Amino acid sequence: MTTATTLPNFSDEVVTEAKIHYVDLPGGAGKAALLTLDNGRDHKRPNTFGPASLASLEAALDEVAARDDLVAVCLTGKPFIFSVGADLSVFRQLTSHEQVLEIGRLGHRVFGKLASLGVPSFAFINGASMGGGLEVALHCTYRTVSAAAPAIALPEVFLGLIPGWGGATLLPRIVGPDNAVTVIVQNPLTFNTMLKPKQAVALGVGDVLLDGADFVEQSLAWAARVVTGAHTVARPEATDEEWDAALARANAVVAGRTKNVPPAPRRALALLANARTASLADGFAAEDEALADLTLSPELAASLYAFDLVQKRAKRPVGVPDVEPAPVTFVGLVGAGLMARQLAVLVAERLGIPVHLIDINEDAVTKAREGLAADLQARAAKGRLRPDLAGRLQQQITFGTDRKDLADADLVIEAVVEDLAIKQGIFADLENIVRDDCVLASNTSSLSVSAMAAGLRHPERVVGLHFFNPVAVMQLVEVVRAQQSGDRAIAAAFAVTKQLKKSAVLVVDSPGFVVNRVLIRLLSEVMRAVDDGTDFATVDVSLDPLGMPMSPFALLELVGTGVAAHVVGAMHSAFPDRFAASPTLDALAAAGYRTVYDAASGAPAINPQVAGLVPSSAAAPSVDDVRDRVLRALAEEIGLMLDEGVVSSAADIDLCMVLGAGWPFWLGGITPYLDRSGISEAVRGKRFHDGAPDATG
Ligand code: NAD
Repeated sequence: MTTATTLPNFSDEVVTEAKIHYVDLPGGAGKAALLTLDNGRDHKRPNTFGPASLASLEAALDEVAARDDLVAVCLTGKPFIFSVGADLSVFRQLTSHEQVLEIGRLGHRVFGKLASLGVPSFAFINGASMGGGLEVALHCTYRTVSAAAPAIALPEVFLGLIPGWGGATLLPRIVGPDNAVTVIVQNPLTFNTMLKPKQAVALGVGDVLLDGADFVEQSLAWAARVVTGAHTVARPEATDEEWDAALARANAVVAGRTKNVPPAPRRALALLANARTASLADGFAAEDEALADLTLSPELAASLYAFDLVQKRAKRPVGVPDVEPAPVTFVGLVGAGLMARQLAVLVAERLGIPVHLIDINEDAVTKAREGLAADLQARAAKGRLRPDLAGRLQQQITFGTDRKDLADADLVIEAVVEDLAIKQGIFADLENIVRDDCVLASNTSSLSVSAMAAGLRHPERVVGLHFFNPVAVMQLVEVVRAQQSGDRAIAAAFAVTKQLKKSAVLVVDSPGFVVNRVLIRLLSEVMRAVDDGTDFATVDVSLDPLGMPMSPFALLELVGTGVAAHVVGAMHSAFPDRFAASPTLDALAAAGYRTVYDAASGAPAINPQVAGLVPSSAAAPSVDDVRDRVLRALAEEIGLMLDEGVVSSAADIDLCMVLGAGWPFWLGGITPYLDRSGISEAVRGKRFHDGAPDATG
C-alpha cells in the first residue's frame, strides 16, 4: 500500500536493514526465515527505526510472507543490540499532526505484518531492546530473551511519549494489565528503570530466558519445539478484578510521581484502559492520536532538550581545558563522615585504586571504618554488591589520623565539617605534605573555594568538587573554578569525574554554586510566604502545577531545618536583597523540628504544633501568588547567575537541576518552562532561549 506522503525527507537516517537468511530448524521442524536487524555500524550507534528502516523491514516481511515453505519467521539484532526503537531525530523533524499520524501508522503497518504471516513469528531479543525496538518484538507471537541483553524497556513515558507502535495495546494482552503498568508507567517514572533479562521473563515480556553464548542457536531450538507443538505458551486472559486493580495502581503511581501534570503518563493510562476492551485496530488508532498530540506538545520539546542535555552535553561538558590531566592512582580523603565514606567507595569501585581517609582521632576512625563495613555488607546482603567486591573494596579503603600518609596522593578531597577556617587549615597543612602536582579539592556545598586557596603557595591546584548526597545515586558533580584555579587542576577534576561515571558541569566559585543557589532561593521564597501568613499546607501545594518530584517541604525535610536555616542564613549574608532570612525557619530549627510534617500521620500532613507557630494573615499570598513569586524568583536568580557568568549558559543550569535535583524532563530542567509560561519575559524582558530550547547553547 502506498499513499502520498506528508513526511519530510529524512536524508540523514542511519538505515537499519533487515537481512534475510533461511535456516533449517533443528529436529526436522522445518524451514524458518531469520531476519537480522543491522545498521552496519558498531554498538555505539544502535539499530533504530526511521522511515527507511521500516521500509527495509517491510520489504523483508513481504518477501518471506510470499513463500509457502516456511514454518516460522524469526527476528534478531546485531551484536549487543536488538533495537533501541524510533530514531528520535525523526520525531524532532515532524511538524504537523498529519506527519506524526503517518509515522505512527507506518510503524503499526510494518510491525503488524509480523502477526499476519500465516506462520508464528519469534523475536530473539539478543541485546538492548527499547521503545519501538521492544514493540516490534511484542508484535511477534513469541519472544526469547538473551541473558546477556543489557536492558529491556518501554521508556517512552519517561521521555514524554507513549509506546505508540503497538506497545500500549499489545503489552497488557501479553503480560496482563498489572505487569504492563509496571513496564509502561511505573518503571519510566522511577528514574527510567529498565528491565534485566531475568525480570523481563519473570514479567512475561519474554517467554524464555536463554544463555548468552549461543543464544540464536538455542532460540532456534526453542522455536522448533514451539512449532512442533512440543512446547506451548499460555497467555491467560486478565480478570475484571485484575484490570480494576491495575488501573487503580497506575493512577496512583502517576498522581504520586507527576501530580498528573505532564500529559504523557496520563495518555499512557488512557491507552491502557482502552486496551482492556478495544480491538487491536482501535487500540492502535488511539496510539496514533496520542502520539500525534504528544509529539507536538511543548512538554516533548522540553523533554527532548533535557534528553540531549543528559545524553550529549553531560558527556561533552563545556569548558574543559585543553590540558592532558595526570593519571590518578591514589586518592586521599580528609574527613571520614557521611560524604567522605560514600566518596571513598565510589573512587575505589570506579577507579579501582587505593583510597585513604583521614579523620580527627581514633574514635572517629573506628566509627568510620565500622560504618563503611556496615554499608558494604548491607549492599551485599541486598544483592547490590558482589560479596568478593565488598571484600576487595574494604581492602582498598584504609583509614588513619596522620595526614602524612597522603604524601603520595595525586588528588586529595576534603570533606570535613562545613567550616572555612578548618578547611583553610587543612589545605595549608597538606601543602607541606603532598607533592607539588597533587590536586586539592573541596566538597564544600556553600563556602568559598577561592578563600580556601588564598594564602597557599600553590593556589592554582585548588578546585571544588561538589558531589551530592547520596553519592551513588546523584549523577551531578559541580566542578568549581576558584579565582586562582589553574587549567591543570580543572582538567584533572573533569577527568576524575568522568572516570567516576558522573556528569560534571563547570561552575564559577560563587555562593551556592548552581543547584543549592536555585534550591535555596526556592526555599527562601516559600518560607517568606509562610512568614507573610500563608499557611504551611497551602504553601506546600503551591508548586504542584509544575509536577515537581518533591514539594517544597519534602525538600526541606530532606535537607533538615537546621541545615536549611544555616544555608538560607549564609545566602542571606551573600545576597541580602534577594534571599530573605526567615524567622519561621529559624524558629523551627531552634525548636528542634527537623520537618514541618507530622511524623505520626506521615507527609504531607502538617504538624499542628508547627502550623500554630505562624499566625495566618488575611493579606497572605494565595496559592497562585506563592507559585508566581517562586517562579519569578527563580527566573531572576537564574538570570543573575547567567549575567555573573556562574555557568556558560542556561543549558548548564538546566542540566544541573535535572541531574543534581531530579527536576523533571518535561520542564526541561526549568528555563524552558519559565520561557513558555511567560515568566522569563515578565521578569527579565527576554527569554532564556530564543526559539526552541537548545542543549548546545
Ligand atoms: P560529616 O559531619 O558527616 O563528616 C565530617 C567529618 O569530618 C567527621 O567525621 C569529622 O570527624 C571530620 N573532621 C572534622 N574536622 C576534621 C579535621 N580537621 N580533620 C579531619 N577530619 C575532620 O559531614 P558531611 O555531611 O560528610 O559533609 C562534609 C562536607 O561535604 C561538608 O563540607 C559539607 O558541606 C559537604 N557536603 C555535604 C553534603 C550532605 O548532604 N551531607 C552534600 C554535599 C556536600
